[in-house]
Amino acid sequence: MIDPKRCTATNRAGEQCGRPPMRGGKVCASHGGKSPRVLAASRRRLAEQEATREVARLSGARDPLTLTDVYREMLNTAGLAVAWRDVLEQRVSALDEYAGMNGIGSEQVRADVALFERAMDRTAKVLELIARLDLDTRMTQISAQQGEQVARALRAGMDAAGLSTGQREAAEAAMVAELRRIGGAR
Ligand SMILES: [Zn+2]
Repeated sequence: MIDPKRCTATNRAGEQCGRPPMRGGKVCASHGGKSPRVLAASRRRLAEQEATREVARLSGARDPLTLTDVYREMLNTAGLAVAWRDVLEQRVSALDEYAGMNGIGSEQVRADVALFERAMDRTAKVLELIARLDLDTRMTQISAQQGEQVARALRAGMDAAGLSTGQREAAEAAMVAELRRIGGAR
């Protein structure tokens, strides 16, 4: 059994080394823990762990999001995505000119174009989500309004027919049952 908290390298006897690994790393100093590549990976792992802890702390401290919050956050995110797109658009066109004049920097241009495209995709996705959420909200409002109008019309019809209290109750019960059936069949 390999203990993941100790150096995971294998020693000459074919067993797990077991010495304390470098901070954020998986192997000890004598098993390559100090090589630049391993050190870089350790730093990245530590940064990720730190960020994950911070996110857990913040999400535990804040109240659950309401739909209004979600909507506001989506609008904020869309604003950020649009800002990123604008910044990258400027960078890409500046680099394009520079690379064109000097015949260099094509790697940089390609990297920025890739970032720009990703930002564009993300912006489109966020805006699409917002549009869809807004549409859902409006549809819900419309159907609630329509329901009230139908109920009012039915009540007016029963009033005009001069139904007795018993007849009204029977009619309302039948309508409710029918509406439930329609709702359940959807
Ligand atoms: Zn070791």
